[in-house]
Amino acid sequence: MSAWWLPASNRGGEVITTPLTFCATVNAILHAGLAPVLADVDPSSQNIDPDAIEAAITPRTRAILPVHFAGRPCAMDRIMAIARKHGLVVIEDCAHAIETEFDGQPVGTFGDFGCFSFYATKNVVTGEGGMILGRDEEHVARARILALHGMSKDAWHRFGDQGYKHYQVVECGFKYNMMDLQAAIGLHQLARVEANWRRRRELWERYDEAFAGFPLGLPAPPDAGTRHGYHLYTVMIDAARSGLGRDAFLDAMNAAGIGTGVHYLSIPEHPYYQQRFGWRPEQWPCAMQLGRETVSLPLSPAMSDSDAERVIQAVTDLLHAR
Ligand SMILES: *Cc1c(COP(=O)(O)O)cnc(C)c1O
Repeated sequence: MSAWWLPASNRGGEVITTPLTFCATVNAILHAGLAPVLADVDPSSQNIDPDAIEAAITPRTRAILPVHFAGRPCAMDRIMAIARKHGLVVIEDCAHAIETEFDGQPVGTFGDFGCFSFYATKNVVTGEGGMILGRDEEHVARARILALHGMSKDAWHRFGDQGYKHYQVVECGFKYNMMDLQAAIGLHQLARVEANWRRRRELWERYDEAFAGFPLGLPAPPDAGTRHGYHLYTVMIDAARSGLGRDAFLDAMNAAGIGTGVHYLSIPEHPYYQQRFGWRPEQWPCAMQLGRETVSLPLSPAMSDSDAERVIQAVTDLLHAR
């Protein structure tokens, strides 16, 4: 597992994260030469359970990597207390959580780093790319260098009016930089972030109202003192309660011309992790069950009221509700 380009200090280290996330969360840990350790989610918030984090801590634990799932903030008060107690780094996966706040503080600013994505499915879209927030100037400077081959100066700083400036390669870096062109596209979306968030909240509240009493699980209401990012509206479909299984529901929605998603099959459902770590989904039963029942309904600021009514009608018909 340890490769020549990784710092020896990473060897044998563990990072605790959630099994209900996109594979990139876990792969990032592996690419750093560290071992992922999964801590199950709370079935209501669907976020990593702080008690499960505590139970997963070993002398090898280096960091906690919480994911603010669907835009709902993790329990950052408890997670930061655990990190302080055990001297751990905290890296927040904020891919769903541009607008999210906990106790009036934006997520991504609690831990040592906050990582955002501007991929096509996210709430600011630059095609590809993302953003890292860092608490420590030196760590931020190092991230910049690692993102561009390990070079001490990028092109803007090499070819300036003051003439050519030598750069130095100070680390074996990567090609992980976002293009300035992409940043220009993203910067212009910042002005729309709030209006888009308000529209998604409206759609979310319309779904909540329409589906109350239906035979399916609904997302828990946002916790007091928090701001939900309303990135995903996930419902739970199980055959016993809903009258059809999750995959049958997905197929029927597709047949009705309505796009859906699954966020996510739990990480240990995937063969790579099963083969590499011997993981079985049953070891994290809450994430397993959620992953097998969850469906993300359309939630986009581009949706009209009649688009939302069409989704609601399709769900109503499928569940023989009302
Ligand atoms: C999209 C996503 C990522 C990965 O973002 P990229 O920009 O595609 O690398 C990581 N974690 C979560 C939870 C995501 O949804």
